[in-house]
Amino acid sequence: MTAHALREGGLHPSHYVGAEIPILRTNAYWNQGGEYFVAEGDESDGTLRCFHPEHALILNIEEEHLDFYPDLAAIEKVFAQLIDQTSGSVLYNVDDPNTARLCGKRKHAVSYGFSEQADYRGTDVELRNFGSSFLVFRRGEKLGQATLNVPGEHNVHNALGVIALASELSIPFDKITASLRKFEHARRRFEIKYASDRFLLVDDYAHHPTEIRATLRSAKSIGRRRLVTMFQPHRYSRTKALCRDFGSAFDDADRVVITDVYPASEPPIPGITGQTIVDEIVRHSHHGVAYQPQLQSVHRDVGNMLEAGDLVLSLGAGNIHEQLEILAADLVVAEKLKAIVGEEGEVRLYEPLSNHTTLRVGGPAQFWVEPRTEQAFAELIRFCDDEHLPLFVIGRGSNLLVRDGGIRGVVVHPHGGDFDKIEVAGYEITAGAGVKLRQVAYTARAANLGGLEWMEGIPGTVGGGLRMNAGAMGAQTFENVTRIRYLDAEGNSHVKNRDELEVFYRRFPLLEKNFAISATFCGQPAERAQIDMRLRESQEKRRTTQPAAKSAGCIFKNPATIPAGKLVDELGLKNSRVGNARVSRVHGNFIVNDGDATASDVLELIDDIKSVARKKRGIELETEVEIVGEPE
Ligand SMILES: Cc1cc2nc3c(=O)[nH]c(=O)nc-3n(C[C@H](O)[C@H](O)[C@H](O)COP(=O)(O)OP(=O)(O)OC[C@H]3O[C@@H](n4cnc5c(N)ncnc54)[C@H](O)[C@@H]3O)c2cc1C
Repeated sequence: MTAHALREGGLHPSHYVGAEIPILRTNAYWNQGGEYFVAEGDESDGTLRCFHPEHALILNIEEEHLDFYPDLAAIEKVFAQLIDQTSGSVLYNVDDPNTARLCGKRKHAVSYGFSEQADYRGTDVELRNFGSSFLVFRRGEKLGQATLNVPGEHNVHNALGVIALASELSIPFDKITASLRKFEHARRRFEIKYASDRFLLVDDYAHHPTEIRATLRSAKSIGRRRLVTMFQPHRYSRTKALCRDFGSAFDDADRVVITDVYPASEPPIPGITGQTIVDEIVRHSHHGVAYQPQLQSVHRDVGNMLEAGDLVLSLGAGNIHEQLEILAADLVVAEKLKAIVGEEGEVRLYEPLSNHTTLRVGGPAQFWVEPRTEQAFAELIRFCDDEHLPLFVIGRGSNLLVRDGGIRGVVVHPHGGDFDKIEVAGYEITAGAGVKLRQVAYTARAANLGGLEWMEGIPGTVGGGLRMNAGAMGAQTFENVTRIRYLDAEGNSHVKNRDELEVFYRRFPLLEKNFAISATFCGQPAERAQIDMRLRESQEKRRTTQPAAKSAGCIFKNPATIPAGKLVDELGLKNSRVGNARVSRVHGNFIVNDGDATASDVLELIDDIKSVARKKRGIELETEVEIVGEPE
């Protein structure tokens, strides 16, 4: 800001600063035509001792870089030497107690700040979305108003220092304010990475508690609904030395995700991690903080908690900004998907698929989308095709084993709206793809239609039931289907009658590349008592032969010679486990999740069973459950 104001003031300065500042073009520049050199220095390594400036502008002095200094006194000693070596004016921030104490009594000291004693004083500060305006007084005399197009009170404060210095160098006030109005951000200083009506993503280099507090205050002043922050602590030594201070630095954030420490070439300090800061924040009674030790997962945690109106801030001097950039790129796509499904539809980033599968394992869906209409679904298909995004449809997730890396691309869950409609007309029931098979069975019962009772115990949807040609009690889906409605890979809709469809045991090839919208099932008139009896039979069979725990139903297809469950039993593998995945004691063809099992546990258990079956019985087991997604 100083280099820019001096340049605009006609002093032709050279400069050397520690950030990329687009308006300066390069961060170091030699100008033959001027006599000033603007150098940005800090106390980090004690080299301030080597500076012999004409003028010094001191922003603040506080406990920092305690990897290098034993304490604050040692830092102040370096600043005192710098001040002694300054031949002209020392311009200092009077609002910072340490700076004021050190500089106040110096002969050529000029103070700036908000307090009444300041030689250059700012008042009537008005913070706006991404800027501010304020009045400037010099020793009680009003100089006029200044406007900034960078946000936050800390920038107003810094600008007062620049005004003080530039004025002491005799640059007229109107030239200084004109230059400040034009000043743009340094990279990684409140840098906007994505902005829309619904979301604002900002990156900032802040990594010291004071900077974090100031940046959060600026972010809060923008007036978005919630402030969601991701923070990467920088250096173990700083984390250890300032952890108490970090505890209160996040008060303005609604949600905070802290990742592990960016070492910046330091060796780890035992017991010091991102959790150290999380513990302090919790101790400070903040309830919205979480620890994510894996940096590469931070964008997912934050992305999944987003709500319209959020401002997301990445903070830290390491590489946390890369997480914000991934989030920003995905948010661009998510916003387009949202425009397609409209207000009534739902789009979520990185939705954990463990929440949407009956086995309760699986990593996230990159884009989770719930359209409510056939038209929105068709548009989604066309959009994914145009953008070369993979598209996967999920119903109730009761025949799926999603790997721990989740599913890349768009995962469509046809649910609600058109997809939950169910209508009875005569002996026919038409149900949307999102309707549960159980609901079809009970709607048929209410209409005194029999033949669909077998559906009551299958935890899937109509869409999944069609795709798998699900069946039980000797019946299967397509025995009851009269016609289906579906969308093809170009998003065009079709209706086909049963006799036009090729169907196999647990397989309906048409839906391998197309998408079910609804199906019409046919029942037969039946006595209510008879229907109830068959429903009870189905319930009883499941209760006595299947585990109640979390599972994906039968894991293996039955080999020609023996039911898979019996084979597993005969091999003595019931109750064998990997991690928290276990072969059910009740049914050898069910793998159950005893709590917090991972997809890798389940996959390893499947491999173990397959290899024993191969070795001991020469049988090659094939999975019935569909395995999808990416390894972690
Ligand atoms: C406890 C338990 C018991 C079970 N018992 C039985 C049983 O007795 N008989 C039986 O057959 N199965 C059974 N299953 C397996 C499962 O319930 C069925 O395969 C069911 O039909 C899957 O439906 P879903 O909605 O869960 O589909 P998902 O598991 O969500 O998906 C399965 C497949 O269908 C595709 N799909 C989903 N919706 C659509 C759509 N709209 N358009 C195109 N493709 C789509 C998916 O992409 C995926 O390929 C059982 C499962 C469990 C957990």
